[in-house]
Amino acid sequence: MCRHLAYLGPPASLRSLLIDPPHSLYRQAWAPRLQRHGTVNADGFGVGWYADGDPVPARYRRAGPVWGDPSLSDIARVTRSGAVLAAVRSATEGTALGEAAAAPFGAGPWLFSHNGLLDGWPGAAAVIAERMSAGPQPRVSAAALLSLEAMVDSAFLWALVRERLRAGSTLGAALSGTIAAVEAAGGTGRFNFLLTDGHTVAATACGDTLWYWRRGEGAGVNGSVTVASEPSDDEPGWTEVPDRHLLVATAGAVSVQPLAARPGGAAGEAARAGRARAPASDSARVPSIESDVSTEGIVS
Ligand code: GLN
Repeated sequence: MCRHLAYLGPPASLRSLLIDPPHSLYRQAWAPRLQRHGTVNADGFGVGWYADGDPVPARYRRAGPVWGDPSLSDIARVTRSGAVLAAVRSATEGTALGEAAAAPFGAGPWLFSHNGLLDGWPGAAAVIAERMSAGPQPRVSAAALLSLEAMVDSAFLWALVRERLRAGSTLGAALSGTIAAVEAAGGTGRFNFLLTDGHTVAATACGDTLWYWRRGEGAGVNGSVTVASEPSDDEPGWTEVPDRHLLVATAGAVSVQPLAARPGGAAGEAARAGRARAPASDSARVPSIESDVSTEGIVS
């Protein structure tokens, strides 16, 4: 699992947000403290940030480990922003490597990161797309699938989120709606998403850790919020978001609410944890992708 972080608030240097804290995202690349899956995040990194008066963020991404980039700390020292989203990556088996596969993914005003995996990638993506097209959900267009930034599960999930945003969903609804649609189509995995448009951050805790820290009172000019896979210091202001919850935050307010229950209940849990096969009566409610379609070679 990767680690990611978003910040909204008074302009701050990227260095103060991402590198300087004692357990910063930078340090989490080799020494995460709460990561549940994987030990290092050395398969690339990315930073996205917004400049005053420009709704479209800049992105700086690299394919290698963040500690191997000699230019980052210098650039981060002099780059200031009031809206930032960054990630360090531990690639899931079977996904593409390279800069294009590193978060944040972007389109127009949005930046997106995914901490987790879609079980059965890449075959599961084809099945999910087909089942979505057949059902009542918003369709996932062929154009969206063909325009994946990279052959990585996160880019597929981003394409689903992006379709919802383009159809007018709020940030929070785009994330929770995507998880519900993927799960309704039989998809399983870990879906910790992080999304911003430079004004609002939406994030899900869905299989891995998620924390936030809101500083300042009300919507005052000094208010800020940091949303991250794990705290970047040991200060007491951090709050953990419970699993299967959606967080929506601005610099002035944070709300946390439950995601919809996973369809299939216990059957879904068992499949997700890779433990016992679910009993036939339960698994019949949501056909599992493994049971009826080969997950190999559908998308290449
Ligand atoms: N599955 C995603 C990738 O391969 C995210 C990986 C992660 O969270 N470690 O990039």
